[in-house]
Amino acid sequence: MIFEVPHMNGNIRVGSLFGIPFYVNVSWFLVLALVTWSYGSGLAAAFPALPGTTPWLLGLFAALLLFASVLAHELGHSLAALQQGIGVNSITLFLFGGLAALEKESATPGGAFKVAIAGPGVSLALFAALFTLGQVLALSGPMSAIVSLLAYINLALGLFNLLPGLPLDGGNVVKSIVWRVTGNPYKGLTFASRIGQIIGWLAIGIGAAAIAGISSIGNGWTLLMGWFLLSNANRSAQSASVQQRLANLTAADATATDSPMVSQDVSLRSFADDVLLQTAGTWRRFLVTDEAGHLVGTVAVDALQAVARDRWASISVKDVMSTETPLTTIASDQPLLDVLRTLDEQQFSVLTVTRQNGQLLGLLEKQAIMRLMQGQAANMHSAAAD
Ligand SMILES: [Zn+2]
Repeated sequence: MIFEVPHMNGNIRVGSLFGIPFYVNVSWFLVLALVTWSYGSGLAAAFPALPGTTPWLLGLFAALLLFASVLAHELGHSLAALQQGIGVNSITLFLFGGLAALEKESATPGGAFKVAIAGPGVSLALFAALFTLGQVLALSGPMSAIVSLLAYINLALGLFNLLPGLPLDGGNVVKSIVWRVTGNPYKGLTFASRIGQIIGWLAIGIGAAAIAGISSIGNGWTLLMGWFLLSNANRSAQSASVQQRLANLTAADATATDSPMVSQDVSLRSFADDVLLQTAGTWRRFLVTDEAGHLVGTVAVDALQAVARDRWASISVKDVMSTETPLTTIASDQPLLDVLRTLDEQQFSVLTVTRQNGQLLGLLEKQAIMRLMQGQAANMHSAAAD
């Protein structure tokens, strides 16, 4: 499953796999307890000869195998991402399954398809291997029950996640196909989100009907899962429209209209009286430009303090500026999504923006982009344990 989760409370770090930090959310212990209880009591009823605590220990064992199956599914997504040079920030198991939090999305629809399909691919391969193992070894008793249970857990994980709507893996497959056909990743995201919303509502309807006693399919869990799918599908639909909007903007659109800029020939007197007064003390450092409007240095507001007030009229900004310009410069016509990627990758919070002719346009702060795309979160991957 691929969806967006802004943050999750109560994560316990368990270790790391292939260099990926691995967490278990406290909500997962509910799954552990439920599976141990339901499978343990099932075994106790089916095999009355089993002594005392054995069915429960086997139930716990089965729950841990479910844990391993979800983890294997997430590792499938993660290794496909790593193969494309995409970092994996963490793998987390929680109430609805697992999440592989990827550093960024695949650059191509083909890459996105591979990352999406790798999780269900691992689950279905495990199903095939376990099913074959059960047939070949001709197991019997509790051992046979556990192997076939594990086989079907993986089958269910694989098939459920292939449902064609976001945030499920099948939704990401659909997204990558629509992306490939239309050449537009946002169209894919929007389409797969819509199907995800339909699947979410269907699950809510099925769960509600079961709770009301109208139908015997599904249960409260179906309703809860439907709500979870719907809220994530809503979020990705929203994210698609925000990204689509951002895609039409350039660096110039996010450049501060009150950027801290001053000409190098301006006197310190004028700098203090006109420029600083206009910007109302918002900035601590100004970008300095020459006659042609090109960036030549920076000047700190504090530099004024080092010069006696009666000399401000005779000294220009050029005399006190620093010619070092530690900021990275980008072109004003660069797409805003690329700018955002640069900021994230280089861990910058601010850039200078220049026009085609080299003239300084102003300062672009990451916050300005954030304001344009409020509510958008990072992409994540997940597998649901149904
Ligand atoms: Zn998945």
